[in-house]
Amino acid sequence: MEQKLTIFNTLHREKEIFQPLHPSLVGMYVCGPTVYGDPHLGHARPAITFDLLFRYLQFIGYKVRYVRNITDVGHLEHDADEGEDKIAKKARLEQLEPMEIAQYYTNRYHKAMEALNVLPPSIEPHASGHIPEQIELVEKILEHGYAYESEGSVYFDVEKYNGKHHYGVLSHRNIDELLETTRDLDGQQEKRRSVDFALWKKASPEHIMRWRSPWSNGFPGWHLECSAMSTKYLGAEFDIHGGGMDLLFPHHECEIAQNTAANGKPAVRYWMHNNMITVNGQKMGKSLGNFINLEEFFTGDHPLLTQAYSPMTIRFFILQSHYRSTVDFSNEALQASEKGLKRLLEAASLIDKLPTASASISDITSLRQKCFDALNDDLNSPVLIAHLFEAARIVNSVSGGKETLTETDKAELKSIFDDFFFNILGIKDESASDDANYAAFAKAVDMLLDMRLEAKRNKDWATSDKIRNELTALGFEIKDTKEGFEWRI
Ligand code: ZN
Repeated sequence: MEQKLTIFNTLHREKEIFQPLHPSLVGMYVCGPTVYGDPHLGHARPAITFDLLFRYLQFIGYKVRYVRNITDVGHLEHDADEGEDKIAKKARLEQLEPMEIAQYYTNRYHKAMEALNVLPPSIEPHASGHIPEQIELVEKILEHGYAYESEGSVYFDVEKYNGKHHYGVLSHRNIDELLETTRDLDGQQEKRRSVDFALWKKASPEHIMRWRSPWSNGFPGWHLECSAMSTKYLGAEFDIHGGGMDLLFPHHECEIAQNTAANGKPAVRYWMHNNMITVNGQKMGKSLGNFINLEEFFTGDHPLLTQAYSPMTIRFFILQSHYRSTVDFSNEALQASEKGLKRLLEAASLIDKLPTASASISDITSLRQKCFDALNDDLNSPVLIAHLFEAARIVNSVSGGKETLTETDKAELKSIFDDFFFNILGIKDESASDDANYAAFAKAVDMLLDMRLEAKRNKDWATSDKIRNELTALGFEIKDTKEGFEWRI
């Protein structure tokens, strides 16, 4: 690989040169959505961050196996491993099959991701489809002595694990303090310590989603699915694990403990975490009334929004911040992004029409490497975007006759936009693609109707009627005119 990518490894808290286990195949796992609610900004940011990484790794020549899971087993809260899970509760109240709810929100998640131009992962495993693998993992951890059974549930023994390994290696928490300060909570007496987390939970009578296991009819603890599925598809050791910073503790810490307890070594070489999103400076939360889901952004249908924002505006806005910085959503900030995006799109569409000269006044020789350097520096998308604005400035200047470009430099500018703006940042021209699709579609209909005219001229009534009838059945209105035909839908 010619490009030297450095990424900030949360595990060591520093930037490291990325070197995959296998020379050309990268294994990458990202914690996906819990599908019991509408996709919102908290889903968009990790999806876009790791989509950028997925696209870039492929662009610089790697083959990437990207695994992003669907949490459909349902869990009360990310940091609680007890109680009736959310999907089950909603299903019980609305008398739905739990998988009906999970499927509904999975579909909505996919639709939103497609609108945001987030590429689908290579594998999208569902937690509910990997119960045997999760049971097997619990058995292995029990066998190695790092878990205990209690009343039909199985808990991870944090203190015992910490005696040999380091619980807190990722979040840099002091485990001794945790162990000292933890006290037993109500209803958690079956655990030895409250830091111990559930690997398997016995289901209470009202719990709908349950599976048979050696310990009880129950369900896996939330942290377990990611360990089980990443091992299954990427192996006991793999390159990159990503997710939002909110997952760092306890979820990812527990994943490390589970993998190490089962296999004697941690699985992940590079941990990457994207920072959080705030709305008007406040944390997003249902109770704060500032919880805006993606569809509401796309339609503008929310009291906090003064207008609709297209999926590409949201994508561009997120990419304008480095993934390790917080992002604050406000109407003003989004409107600024909308303008900036428009400027870049306009410049990109202008390049083909630029005049060329025998010499370039504009210097674009180092522009491509500068774009690479930005990405190689821990995916610094805001710096990359700044270079693209410089490219746009040159386009406008040449277009206004103030600077000149050779044919070669013009081609290079075009390829910089194609590679970095469209391909790697994953921006698409939403209006242009609709227009282009419609133009192609209209041409195809015209072509069919031309064939019908020709059939009529040849007195081939069967063909002419067939074309007319089938188009009519599809909802087209066709009118014969002196010039030929008119049509509309
Ligand atoms: Zn996970």
